[in-house]
Amino acid sequence: MPPIVVSTWRFGLAANQPAWKILKQGGSALDAVIQGVEVAERDPAVKSVGYGGYPNAEGEVEVDAAVVDGRSLGYGAVAGLKNIATPTAVARRVMEKTDHVFLVGEGALQFARTQGFQACEMLTEDGRKAWEAWKNGQTDAPADVHDTIGMIALDQRGNLAAACTTSGAAFKLPGRVGDSPLIGSGLYADNDAGAAAATGRGEEIARTCGSYAIVEHMRQGKSPQAACEAVVQHLVARVPKAQPHQMAYIALDKRGNWGAVATRSGFLAAVTSNAENHLCESRYFIDRGGVV
Ligand code: ASP
Repeated sequence: MPPIVVSTWRFGLAANQPAWKILKQGGSALDAVIQGVEVAERDPAVKSVGYGGYPNAEGEVEVDAAVVDGRSLGYGAVAGLKNIATPTAVARRVMEKTDHVFLVGEGALQFARTQGFQACEMLTEDGRKAWEAWKNGQTDAPADVHDTIGMIALDQRGNLAAACTTSGAAFKLPGRVGDSPLIGSGLYADNDAGAAAATGRGEEIARTCGSYAIVEHMRQGKSPQAACEAVVQHLVARVPKAQPHQMAYIALDKRGNWGAVATRSGFLAAVTSNAENHLCESRYFIDRGGVV
């Protein structure tokens, strides 16, 4: 099977590179997506993922992340996790080392520590300045800043995997969790059908279980592109107040065909395979009428 990795946004292209290396060498899709998203998690310039993400309303960075293994429908997630720069790797340990699928807050942090993860300060100088400006009323919370990285991959053995990792909405209420760590909303993968991941306003994305729906559309025979279009169309029709927000999906079928659709212009999918290594601006919807 020719491998392929697809991820969200401009920084996805750099994150795809270690993932692609793993896939090219015959490694697993699961290893690829976890190693891949770690690039964005460790990059302080990425303000909505991992280290350097914008903090919550109290000035603390809280991150959410999840993985889905399409071989077994294995799932692991963490949310409201503080002081750990690589939450997706912790989510994998939840999947592999515990009898559970989802750990939150203090329990997730304690678990990460027992697994050998180093605690660190996640708030950078830039993050602190942005938070202070917001707190002092000098700036509004950025309403539509979307930098979650979702990554989906197909390996040479035909296995699919998905990862999603975010620091969530800037200056959110402490404890707020969006779609990203939720299986079926932020991500999904099933070797028998395909994989999908989401980015954008989690409060809206979480309503329609879109990643699961995309995979089910592919199972019924739709292309990844048609599956994404059907789900975005359903979302804006069923939840009209979601319409002004940017929300986007990427999808991959079990043969390595990919698709991407967003509600607004400007969404970029990063695609790396033997044939491609580039950013693609996705088709988008600006009204309920259909794809523009
Ligand atoms: N979906 C993420 C969340 O709601 C945010 C984003 O992708 O920008 O937490």
